[in-house]
Amino acid sequence: PPQQQAGGEQRAMVPGVRSIVAVASGKGGVGKSTTTTNLAMGLARLGLKVGVLDADIYGPSQPRMLGISGRPTSPDGKILNPMENYGIKCMSMGFLVAEDTPMIWRGPMVQSALQQMLRDVDWGELDILVVDMPPGTGDAQLTMAQQVPLTGAVIVSTPQDIALLDARKGLNMFRKVDVPVLGIVENMSMFICPNCGHESHIFSHGGAKREAEKLGMEFLGEVPLDIEIRETSDEGRPIVVSNPDAPLAQAYCAIAQRV
Ligand code: ADP
Repeated sequence: PPQQQAGGEQRAMVPGVRSIVAVASGKGGVGKSTTTTNLAMGLARLGLKVGVLDADIYGPSQPRMLGISGRPTSPDGKILNPMENYGIKCMSMGFLVAEDTPMIWRGPMVQSALQQMLRDVDWGELDILVVDMPPGTGDAQLTMAQQVPLTGAVIVSTPQDIALLDARKGLNMFRKVDVPVLGIVENMSMFICPNCGHESHIFSHGGAKREAEKLGMEFLGEVPLDIEIRETSDEGRPIVVSNPDAPLAQAYCAIAQRV
């Protein structure tokens, strides 16, 4: 649906961008960025025009995951052209600073960088802009959720209790700023041994689904822990494009359909 968020100037809509969906997690390392990239690709496979905004200023992953390097051009010195690969447009702090340069910015600078990456970019016409949010639910994240005109949020969690606890915090953060939570994705849901086919529940199993039911929220799907997901992400050829018929790719596409 088109953006209908009310709010002040800070939450003003982005011209040409029909909807903006945040992918968030209560803590780092649960697969939020991996889910963002593959979800974006799944959405593109549905025929949508998709962009990815990497809002993880301190630890941008999207350039590597989308297999993009180089710097965005700016014909007028003001508006940046987004980078693009696999038909997906992307803006990330990773394009603007060297990979080994730490961002030692305080909150206000992060906020203005984010606003620029959102608004001073020629996104063209997009059906959906997927935002890879920074991990956690601190002040910066809350402000970000307040400043970006979000249509909705997807929460990524691993199945075990501690990650779910953090996911609940993430959920409450979006509720606080009146952003609808579209549902929960359970990542690293299980591990299937490639040799013997045995299914192990390394980070437990089914916790996110139970939690979604308990909270009356949609469960968007589960993605197993699988070496192909990790390897293809690292190589910048995420599984949805590199092995589109694989069941793992289908899992992401099913999530995209529910979003
Ligand atoms: P976050 O954005 O939450 O910090 P990432 O998406 O960067 O997490 O994932 C952390 C690491 O786990 C990465 O190396 C990524 O390739 C890997 N990873 C994420 N999801 C899976 C999965 N389902 N199976 C295997 N590896 C995964």
